[in-house]
Amino acid sequence: MLNEHNSSKIGTLYVVATPIGNLDDISQRALKVLSSVDLIAAEDTRHTGKLLSHFAIKAKTVAVHDHNEKQKSQQIVNWLNEGLDIALVSDAGTPLISDPGYAVVNLCREQGANVTPVPGACAAIAAVSCSGLATDKFQFLGFTPAKSKARQDFYLNAVESGITSIFYESTHRILASLDDAAECLGSEQKIVLAKELTKTYETFFSGSISELIAFLNEDRARQKGEFVLMLPGKVVDKQEFGPEVMRMLELIKAEMPLKKACGVVATYFDLKKNALYKAVLEQQESE
Ligand code: SAM
Repeated sequence: MLNEHNSSKIGTLYVVATPIGNLDDISQRALKVLSSVDLIAAEDTRHTGKLLSHFAIKAKTVAVHDHNEKQKSQQIVNWLNEGLDIALVSDAGTPLISDPGYAVVNLCREQGANVTPVPGACAAIAAVSCSGLATDKFQFLGFTPAKSKARQDFYLNAVESGITSIFYESTHRILASLDDAAECLGSEQKIVLAKELTKTYETFFSGSISELIAFLNEDRARQKGEFVLMLPGKVVDKQEFGPEVMRMLELIKAEMPLKKACGVVATYFDLKKNALYKAVLEQQESE
């Protein structure tokens, strides 16, 4: 559904990013929008109240958080339909990014309401942009799971994806989470931590998981604050053909000549046909 801005009939929902630490990171446009809307839908009205009073903005606020978002969404669309302009903000950063707002925006889209972003800070993007990790492709995975087994699966899948992974971790789980990462990825696995971004004690740490654990254990204060963790994707050695490749080749070569079967499987897995063919011949010779 296309937005038609400045429609005289219905209002606009502005999805407004707010700072993740340094208040100077608020944009001119965010200030203008927050000052001019009829209503601000905030994750925590007291928290947003402090931000608004810092910038001397007087605005009506309404709480829209994880526990009431579903019920409030229709009310917000109704207000937009009545012509009110509304800003959606979370406690920090970009709303909807590991924050409330999905139900509201989804319903607005379903019901054809105007939605427009007022972009700004996002911890994941700020972190990866200074991480030194590959940024041509990356995935954002939200918060790590709470349970150890699920977290180990999460870490394995992250690295196996082959691209940079960015995720959030809380202060009370950071050490247990890194222990899980070491357990399933090995303690030598490279990892990057971005802590307290844009704040006084902003810290980037890049090293092995065991080095990061040692760094955090050196001073308990280092375990406090807000964290983004990042892992590089595993570089797949295309000469080592995994069990999935060999299993498919086994099935397909029953139906066609080996060379052709290697071509089909190589295309499917995005591998080099000749390398696969050579590896299979070598394997056959050694058997
Ligand atoms: N919507 C926010 C955003 O755009 O980044 C994220 C909200 S999420 C509830 C909060 C988590 O984001 C924190 O637990 C931490 O993992 C990460 N985070 C937020 N601010 C941060 C900062 N200044 N430095 C590092 N991580 C931060």
